[in-house]
Amino acid sequence: MNRRGILVVVSGFSGVGKGTLMRCLTERYGYYALSISATTRAPRENEEDGREYFFKTKEEFEQLIAENRLIEYACYCGNYYGTPRDYVEDQMDQGRDVILEIELQGALNIKKQYPDALLLFVMPPDAQTLADRLRGRGTETEEVIRERLQRAVEESEGVEAYDYMIINDDLEKSVETVHCLIDSQHNKISRNLDFVEQIRNEIKIFAKGE
Ligand code: 5GP
Repeated sequence: MNRRGILVVVSGFSGVGKGTLMRCLTERYGYYALSISATTRAPRENEEDGREYFFKTKEEFEQLIAENRLIEYACYCGNYYGTPRDYVEDQMDQGRDVILEIELQGALNIKKQYPDALLLFVMPPDAQTLADRLRGRGTETEEVIRERLQRAVEESEGVEAYDYMIINDDLEKSVETVHCLIDSQHNKISRNLDFVEQIRNEIKIFAKGE
């Protein structure tokens, strides 16, 4: 059966732990393809070009936009972030489920272009935990943390556009929940219309006793 990969969008407030969650998911289930975005944000200390992001200058990023090489892009806290088109299309054509870890504007944009996409939102168990995690990361200044919390307020207004939420209070459980949600999409009737048609026709033949 020809099975096109599912496009999965994972969003969540900054500091909610979606990066760790996605890393664990892709390590455990080797067949997920995690898209690497381009960004104009400066690399954090432990980040490598081509691993977490493709780090670009503003000019380079604008060139990617002009050449239509991004499926979507958005400005987040003063920096550009965007999803490279070729990787996503190639992987989906090969039947792999592709995960985009992107923010709200990007998610809405993807939903418009790919109505079948599965939109997941990772939630903290409570607001205090989110603020603690953001500070505990130790990679951002207090000003940046405030800005990201403010952005979280804005993003919380868009959560209704998503299909499911995952409350990330137990990493193991969250990994399994995300995996099950993605896996179940393959069983949707709307994704299996060819198979349904084939079975229907075969049964008709049996029913006629031919
Ligand atoms: P961070 O700077 O913490 O790595 O990412 C900031 C925000 O940008 C996160 O919400 C992350 O999900 C989002 N983001 C990362 N890559 C992309 C992308 O390609 N497109 C969009 N729209 N958002 C992205």
